[in-house]
Amino acid sequence: MEQLINEANWRNLIQETAAHQAQLIAVSKTKSNAAIQALYDLGQRDFGENYVQEFVSKQAQLPKDICWHFIGHLQRNKVKQIVGVANIIHGVDSERLLQEINKEAEKKQVVQNILLQYFIAKEETKFGLDAAEIEVIIAQKEQYPHVQFLGLMGMATHTDDQEQIKAEFDQLITLKQSLKARYFKEDAAFSMASIGMSGDYAIALAAGASHIRIGSMLFGARNYTS
Ligand SMILES: *Cc1c(COP(=O)(O)O)cnc(C)c1O
Repeated sequence: MEQLINEANWRNLIQETAAHQAQLIAVSKTKSNAAIQALYDLGQRDFGENYVQEFVSKQAQLPKDICWHFIGHLQRNKVKQIVGVANIIHGVDSERLLQEINKEAEKKQVVQNILLQYFIAKEETKFGLDAAEIEVIIAQKEQYPHVQFLGLMGMATHTDDQEQIKAEFDQLITLKQSLKARYFKEDAAFSMASIGMSGDYAIALAAGASHIRIGSMLFGARNYTS
């Protein structure tokens, strides 16, 4: 039978993240419930998904003590399906999306954990906020009483240039620390830096990631056509 997961990689990643006081999020998009269950049975509890339909159906079917991270680009018209279901929404990339999340969380009488997505890549294609936009949101955080700000999320440029990736991750960590010092001194929850994927997680851990998001190293390459 074909292996659903790479157990050796999982064990190594658990050790490496523990050595950096970081946590491993297993990114299971496009992968089967059986593959998720196999990793769960080894002890993995944090899973990340990108697509709303897939997220909702997996969340309903899989064990209730999984901590679900929504890591994809969330459209405002799909906020209803995610708020109160995702433990953490990683990619909050606009003020209007944040307002929508706050509104929906108020309706459901929950406090929704979120990360603001900081645009650190030198690419046109990725979503995110710049430092000035993040500053504006955080300075007005009292406007979002149904949102808990946990930190920042980012994706580095897709490049082989390790120095560039390191510089981008450092930039995110520096902004997180600066926001922490100025706005969240008394708020222990604001502590997350969600950076690093299969190709660049080691750089992210060295830079100070609190959470790395790993897909293909755990589940193999994704096949979007199947
Ligand atoms: C798919 C995805 C990942 C995991 O990517 P791998 O390279 O397979 O580890 C991490 N973060 C985000 C936002 C993703 O969309």
